[in-house]
Amino acid sequence: MAKIIDGKAIAAKIRGELAEEVKKLTSAGIQPGLAVVLVGEDPASRVYVTMKEKACRDVGIFSDEYKLHAETSEADLLDLIKRLNIDPRIHGILVQLPLPGSINTERVLEAVSPAKDVDGFHPYNVGLLVIGKPIFRPCTPYGVMVLLKESGIDLTGKEVVVVGRSNIVGKPVAFMCLQQNATVTLCHTKTRDLPARVGMADVLIAAAGKPEMIKGEWIKEGAVVIDVGVNRVGEKKLVGDVEFAKASERASAITPVPGGVGPMTITMLLHNTVAAAKRAATSN
Ligand code: NDP
Repeated sequence: MAKIIDGKAIAAKIRGELAEEVKKLTSAGIQPGLAVVLVGEDPASRVYVTMKEKACRDVGIFSDEYKLHAETSEADLLDLIKRLNIDPRIHGILVQLPLPGSINTERVLEAVSPAKDVDGFHPYNVGLLVIGKPIFRPCTPYGVMVLLKESGIDLTGKEVVVVGRSNIVGKPVAFMCLQQNATVTLCHTKTRDLPARVGMADVLIAAAGKPEMIKGEWIKEGAVVIDVGVNRVGEKKLVGDVEFAKASERASAITPVPGGVGPMTITMLLHNTVAAAKRAATSN
């Protein structure tokens, strides 16, 4: 039976360490600050933004919230980002996605100063990640890497199979695993014989966004399974991309959904914000 990788506990431990660090920085006159920008009324985005603000407060990070109405023009949003880029109280800028269709998301993400890009989505930071010299790593894949590290799982020489190639999860996590000397296979909807690919994995990272599409019987005996997927089925139930119960019988370790990767994402946002504040302080 697989060991459960407890993301909640690991996240709580890291948040405790961050709170200590923030206390020290604040008493040295540097309170880390995060600006959270939300455009429109998307209910899920509102929930995420509220969670991020609460998490900031809990560790002592100053958070400033900008709730803009859905009809906000791209020019006005770019103006706000320009102001935040030079605001000395703000070390990290987070633009909650998705943006309304009338706004060009790429243009907005590129407007964020790379030095305040705590989501790690600016092409400059993506490039640094690809060449193995990251400054800010995107939060969800970074959270996956921390879960593996905290669970004592060394990737050197391991076969890592990632299902999903999005810019937010699949691609960056693949590069991070490569950096840790894994041999990486990146799968997507055009991949032939997905069960065979999954069956090769010493470490499987599922980020497809399809409820329980990865069957327990595909998993190699003793594999580590990290399930990034969060899928709502019915009114209240959340499931991952992997058939949890069956996969648990074969895997050596597995993340639950919820309570696995989920709590790590905001934790790594807090980590990146503290890192941005420290970088700003040393570059002054
Ligand atoms: P996207 O929809 O952007 O990407 C999904 C990827 O999975 C695509 O590359 C797609 O391939 C691939 N895929 C979809 N179906 C299949 C299939 N049947 N076989 C093989 N590959 C498939 O999703 P995200 O990367 O944004 O998110 C993935 C999951 O992670 C979602 O459930 C999301 O909710 C969750 N998530 C969780 C977070 C957390 O904090 N825990 C944060 C971010 C995401 P193709 O490119 O060919 O279309």
